[in-house]
Amino acid sequence: MSFLLPKNSGRPLTLGIMGGTFDPVHIGHLVTAEEARQQFGLDYVIFIPAGAPPHKDQKLISSEEHRYIMTMLAVVDNPYFTVSRLEIDRKSPSYTIDTVRRFFQIYNNELNLYFITGADAILDIKTWKDYGELLEICSFIAASRPGYSFNKLKSIFGPAFKKITKKIHFLEIPAMSISSTYIRRRIAKGKTIKYLTPEPVEQYIYKNRLYLGSGAIR
Ligand code: NAP
Repeated sequence: MSFLLPKNSGRPLTLGIMGGTFDPVHIGHLVTAEEARQQFGLDYVIFIPAGAPPHKDQKLISSEEHRYIMTMLAVVDNPYFTVSRLEIDRKSPSYTIDTVRRFFQIYNNELNLYFITGADAILDIKTWKDYGELLEICSFIAASRPGYSFNKLKSIFGPAFKKITKKIHFLEIPAMSISSTYIRRRIAKGKTIKYLTPEPVEQYIYKNRLYLGSGAIR
């Protein structure tokens, strides 16, 4: 696996996997990861840009390399954050269960794992590959904007909701009112994105002329 892998030091590590498309990564993601790290006592947070998100049209998202480089640029100044190419280098669809199983394999099952992602993404969890096993072997941190209603999740899981909430933790992040879509739209309209994403990411976007034109409005 091509990234600096945190090592166990006599006790099982508690890792956060920050899963997302990151097109582009922004401060909402960074605040989420840092808040999750502190609240859940994570040793490290590993950002894993999705290679081929199973639920998305590949033609509509930026190349994996652009998304990977931007994520690297965003996390480089945090010693507790790192980025993995695991899903990018896997040539098949990025199923979360495959990523989570791979982590348990690497750490000989000596691992506590939290999968951090957006609450909207978690709403669809019943459509994810082997979601029952996923909920058994790892916990989820669902990041949302303040005021987000979790009632939808209640209706999706029905009577199993109480059990599920032991494995899915909700985290309200004020900075999550920023979204990748919002940033792409602002760029397409020629508006500033200063302070919405770290400066090196902003410069990378301009240098590579990302998100210009109608393709960005999606
Ligand atoms: P998405 O549908 O693009 O995102 C849904 C919402 O969640 C958006 O508001 C998004 O905001 C937010 N979000 C996404 N990742 C986030 C993160 N790490 N922290 C905070 N908010 C986040 O979701 P996605 O990015 O494509 O997928 C999320 C993760 O779920 C990925 O790792 C993907 O591989 C996994 N997934 C797995 C399966 C499967 O195994 N079958 C199916 C679906 C998704 P932004 O647009 O601002 O990020």
